[in-house]
Amino acid sequence: MMRQYELVERVRKYNPSADEDLLNRAYVYAMKAHGAQTRASGDPYFSHPLEVAAILTDLGLDDATIVAAVLHDTIEDTAATREEIERLFGGEIARLVDGLTKIKKLDLVSKRAEQAENFRKLLLAIADDVRVLLVKLADRLHNMRTLHFVPPDKRKRIAEETLDIYAPLAGRMGMQGVRDELEGLAFSHLMPEAFETISHRLNELHAKNGPIIRRIEQELQQELKLRGIEAEVKGRRKAPYSVWRKMERKSIGFEQLSDIYGFRIIVANVEDCYRVLGVVHTKWPTVPGRFKDYISTPKQNDYRSIHTTVVGPGHQRVELQIRSREMNEIARLGIAAHALYKDSHASDVETLSHESGAYRWLQRTLELLAEGDSPEEFLEHTKLELFHDQVFCFTPKGRLIALPRGATPVDFAYAVHTDVGNTAVGAKINGRIAPLLSELQNGDEVEIVRAEAQTPPAAWEALARTGKARSAIRRATKDAARAQYAGLGRQIVARAFERADKPFSDEALKAVLPRLARPNVDDVFVAVGRGEMFSGDVVKALHPEFKEERKIAPAIDKKESGWFNFKNVSKLMFRAPGGDPGKAVPIRGLRGDLPVRFAPNGGAVPGDRIVGIVTPGEGITIYPIQSPALSAFDNEPGRWIDVRWDLEEYGRDKFPAQIKVTAINEPGSLGAIATVIGDAGANIANIAFEEHSPDFRDVLIDVEVNDLKHLTGIISQLKARPVVSKVERING
Ligand code: MN
Repeated sequence: MMRQYELVERVRKYNPSADEDLLNRAYVYAMKAHGAQTRASGDPYFSHPLEVAAILTDLGLDDATIVAAVLHDTIEDTAATREEIERLFGGEIARLVDGLTKIKKLDLVSKRAEQAENFRKLLLAIADDVRVLLVKLADRLHNMRTLHFVPPDKRKRIAEETLDIYAPLAGRMGMQGVRDELEGLAFSHLMPEAFETISHRLNELHAKNGPIIRRIEQELQQELKLRGIEAEVKGRRKAPYSVWRKMERKSIGFEQLSDIYGFRIIVANVEDCYRVLGVVHTKWPTVPGRFKDYISTPKQNDYRSIHTTVVGPGHQRVELQIRSREMNEIARLGIAAHALYKDSHASDVETLSHESGAYRWLQRTLELLAEGDSPEEFLEHTKLELFHDQVFCFTPKGRLIALPRGATPVDFAYAVHTDVGNTAVGAKINGRIAPLLSELQNGDEVEIVRAEAQTPPAAWEALARTGKARSAIRRATKDAARAQYAGLGRQIVARAFERADKPFSDEALKAVLPRLARPNVDDVFVAVGRGEMFSGDVVKALHPEFKEERKIAPAIDKKESGWFNFKNVSKLMFRAPGGDPGKAVPIRGLRGDLPVRFAPNGGAVPGDRIVGIVTPGEGITIYPIQSPALSAFDNEPGRWIDVRWDLEEYGRDKFPAQIKVTAINEPGSLGAIATVIGDAGANIANIAFEEHSPDFRDVLIDVEVNDLKHLTGIISQLKARPVVSKVERING
């Protein structure tokens, strides 16, 4: 176990003005607090916070962070309290330890909803002070290094969480060293065989190619020296996990991996980086498409470097990373590098880390949270963004917009401004009209064509890559749906007042909002429109003496109820369901001469995926695959037969389907519905009614349609009618 003086020495090495007394007091306090506690390894528990502090001294962090690391498990696992820590070590350290205590119990691989909420809490704690994350990552790193002592069932969960959340977060914060180690350790526990195999192959390859690597190193070094550039050239091997991921992503075998080896050229300054690039590009042929300049456009996590691939000495493909010493430090330490060489003044650490791109990413992610996404969706988006590579695009005015790889002009528009996204109707990429769903490339200049009073189609949500675009589209579609419900509700309420012979105004409603338990008039209309509140109750809120005269139960005699008007329906043809008997069923895959029929209650229409169920002695019944009735045959696989529609055969036949329409309960509603169906060229075979609420009626309609497209067309047209609140298909 690390001694007290060793900890102090480690800190003093990079920070001569470190507060020795503070470090010593923390050491003694934590040691006493943890007392005789032990870890799974049998070591004294206190060795753990010390190791965590040691990891952070490697990152050169300030006193407060080191002390917080030493104390990080005291509130949770010992009798220590936040108050006591605050009294002994001050507010800043108490806040850090408290932040760590709060996130300690967050389980990030539990049930989805919980997991998402926990991830949210984690990000909030980090945003409060990035040093919380630095200690947490060091904590996780030490726990991963000692994971083999932990029981196997617990091991898997911790390794999964590491690979899912902490390693990508470390990467996002630019801490490549921590990320690599976390990934390697998690990989070795989650897929021990794959890890072993790949490590073994890498070792073999290294033994075989060692001489070539040294030769390439030397040749590069000499070439640069000849041109007067002082450079350090290092061959580096890929980590087993990144090899594995590449094999998975590209579905290729180990032999096909061309870039197991890379070389890093480290020079004094930016100028030298470009000089090196000039030298290697003149000396060796380049591999096209592999050049990336992350110096002029850094990655979001502040990573800077030049990447290129050349056909180098011995006709080997050689991957090169060219960077300055400072860039190399930032690539290794990321956000922690901003705290490097600083004294213990917290404000400096904060100011510096706030200037970093990694911190800005964190802020943006949290803004998304504040915009009220559901935590599950938020987690999904953030995870996506954690893993994505970046593309960099420009506005016509030259503003740089960084987006995840695969992003579209829709994402671009929302990244510029939510209003721009919501009103986007088209895009020009590099001056040419392009589909809104094109994949953007690095360096594209994107101009968004806008039209006012647009609502983004809900379908865009699935096509957007960024969380920001997705949540904005979802919000805009929700708003549009809400506006529709509000309009519907207003119509219903106005009529209810008319029937009651009472005057109606928004002002009057405002006065009784508390009675309706809604914050504003619009919410009342939305509630009525959605069927969550009855129009009669709205009238009663203003006129308590009012009695709804209409019966709540639906009249069986529809003509007398006055609810719909048969004049509008009369032109429709009523037919028995099922079409003409004896007609050939246009389905392929049927065998023998068994009689075939469709399942009752609106079975399948062409376009549906269908199956046949054989009933011995009776014949075959066709069901759409989504039919709940099929579950009755789950245990009799022998009765299922694979069938599909014979598309040439079915011609002009019509097929029965059943839909349920929820409509406003007022004269003319059914007429409007029937007209839509009639105009679309479908038949109504039967109509039935279901009680729903005083304001709404459910109408069950057996329609006969040509195919699925015909049916979905009718359903969307019905949905567009102002009197209709909902339409669904019923599957027999
Ligand atoms: Mn710990």
